[in-house]
Amino acid sequence: MKLGFTAMGSALHNRRMLQSLAIASMIFSGMPAEAGGISAVAVDGDRVTVRFDGRVDGASAFLLDGPRRIALDISGAQAGRGQFAGGHDTVAAVRQGQLSAETARVVLDLAAPATLAAPRIAADGKSLSFSLSNVSDSAFRMAVGRGRQRFDGPANMAPRPARRLHSITVPIPPVARGVSLPSVAGPRDASRPLVVIDAGHGGHDPGAINRENGEREKDVTLAIAQAIRDQLLKSGRVRVALTRSDDRFLVLQERYGIARKLNADLFISIHADSADNEAARGATVYTLSETASDREAARLAARENKADLLNGVNLGGQTTDVSSILIDLTQRESMNISVNFARLLQREAAPYMPFKGTAHRFASLMVLKAPDTPSVLFETGYISNKADAAFLASKEGQADIARGVARAIEVHFARKMVMRQGVAGG
Ligand code: ZN
Repeated sequence: MKLGFTAMGSALHNRRMLQSLAIASMIFSGMPAEAGGISAVAVDGDRVTVRFDGRVDGASAFLLDGPRRIALDISGAQAGRGQFAGGHDTVAAVRQGQLSAETARVVLDLAAPATLAAPRIAADGKSLSFSLSNVSDSAFRMAVGRGRQRFDGPANMAPRPARRLHSITVPIPPVARGVSLPSVAGPRDASRPLVVIDAGHGGHDPGAINRENGEREKDVTLAIAQAIRDQLLKSGRVRVALTRSDDRFLVLQERYGIARKLNADLFISIHADSADNEAARGATVYTLSETASDREAARLAARENKADLLNGVNLGGQTTDVSSILIDLTQRESMNISVNFARLLQREAAPYMPFKGTAHRFASLMVLKAPDTPSVLFETGYISNKADAAFLASKEGQADIARGVARAIEVHFARKMVMRQGVAGG
């Protein structure tokens, strides 16, 4: 099933859209709120209300899958400083961005499948609202297929006069396409297993940030990825490649795309978690599943998957329906291997670093979608927790993590080798 922002057309169009979008948001961010600025997004029970400090012209909504989202395009509106009020079981996060000079987009990241009902714009044009109804996975996918839904507006709503923008042009680099493959380090022996380590986030996407000292997930993940590579190279048993070895942005597809193109035997995406509860700490290991193992896992997937959705534009291009991939038997096999590795990783790395009690979880994580590469996403700890943040940022902590991960990798491939010899010998 082809999903995504089909209305935007080709990748080239997306890229242009991204550029104009970034420019637009730069212009608007410094401007005082005027007519149509989004002032608040409130979720109250099953009713969602978006308020504006001026009148808007109209709106439409559509649903997206993988990850599940509701997108609202509001014409005559400007992305503003609106706050997301209140937590909700179904809505994991709310984001906003400027789609074009006249249209703002609000994206609701869903923690559970839900569709919208009774969409309407208030008579004064200063708010729009709809109710959420929880539905099954299949009902959600059907609703995705139905496309855009218009909001009913008051009949007497006259269009506002077009605003003239005093714009400046700020060039931003286009998203790197067809990234060149990273070099493979280690023994020059193609029969040795190849591990691709992916340092999460990078470039304009900092990932999670520690509120007190400003420590950024993208820096921590790169340092840990490099430490794991160095540790693996010491034993010389496996070959290693990093998806990035500097501060650059890669869309999620490019990350696992590198692993696939290099024919990797294992893909490990390194991340650091964050939570409002500053006491939350410890590492977790995620493997791919259509459905999240718990609400926290669903929230994490929504957060990690949005790297491709900054400002509501899908930088990843064509998104694939996870469920259609899951049918694939190759994927089944990779998933079993991934699950075994996830357990092994906790067992081998736990002596070196703190883990959560139930460390292995499932979630629909975009970066784990390579159908033929066993993949795990390793949340190495909480950047929002004081002790974890210090551990993750220290050379000693990074070396400890690297030791644990390298041990797990070596045991994993040693097991595979024994199994293969067993089969060959028997
Ligand atoms: Zn992350």
